[in-house]
Amino acid sequence: MDEINALRDVLAAGRRMVFFGGAGVSTESGIPDFRSASGLYRREESAYSPEEMLHHDFFMQYQPQFYEYYFNNLVHPAAQPNDAHRVLASLEAAGNLAAVVTQNVDGLHQQAGSRTVAELHGSVRRNYCMNCGAFHSLEEMLSQRPTVPVCRECGSVVKPDVVLYGETLHDETVCEAIGHIRQADVLIIGGTSLSVYPAAGLIEYFNGDTLVLINRDATTYDRAAQLIIRGKIGETLQKAWSKAYS
Ligand code: NAD
Ligand code: ZN
Repeated sequence: MDEINALRDVLAAGRRMVFFGGAGVSTESGIPDFRSASGLYRREESAYSPEEMLHHDFFMQYQPQFYEYYFNNLVHPAAQPNDAHRVLASLEAAGNLAAVVTQNVDGLHQQAGSRTVAELHGSVRRNYCMNCGAFHSLEEMLSQRPTVPVCRECGSVVKPDVVLYGETLHDETVCEAIGHIRQADVLIIGGTSLSVYPAAGLIEYFNGDTLVLINRDATTYDRAAQLIIRGKIGETLQKAWSKAYS
């Protein structure tokens, strides 16, 4: 309870808060993360690891297998935002949260109402033809299952705007994320093992007063945090938010 009260005080006092999150933010929406006990890395259903199958080279070489894995494991069209997404959207609307920086590709922050979201690894909701660049919605992609999605304009393969292993992050998004983190007075990190680089390295730019870590498992950044909460992120944020703003 003391931790929740401490988080309530942080939320109430923060003026330029930034949230930095990962797959753990969406587990309460039913989307598995990578490294938890029930995460995708623990499922042995293929000769290839998720890192191999979500690699740029694998996509280029084995498109049918890539898309089978991708649609079965990374795309969750029925998932709905949870309390973590909702509280963050409310904090932004109240003027206290400047931005969400996320490693997630599910689009649930925007669905919950967040406006300033830097998606470091892209989004399954944006897809572009590899030949003519035409935009395709997630629905258009899903309607072509189980075949490899092709462009309605030119028939070429469509690629998700998701940063695969072996690909570089978009410069603009990285700059935007660094700008937000640099100016933040409070950085709340949650639902991420902080083991995927270069994304995790961006938190080094934080220069503000208070670093909060909300994660089920320990991370390498625990030593740097002023407040560590080992709980479910949706539940934790909701409890602290309802105390701070009621
Ligand atoms: P990760 O799987 O490496 O780590 C997730 C962390 O979140 C773990 O430390 C776990 O203890 C914690 N966690 C899980 N559920 C939680 C909860 N309810 N409350 C608090 N903590 C919780 O994820 P990562 O660090 O984001 O790195 C994996 C990479 O894969 C990232 O690029 C990520 O975006 C991508 N990915 C995205 C999605 C998605 O878009 N929803 C899903 C799976 C993986
Ligand atoms: Zn095309």
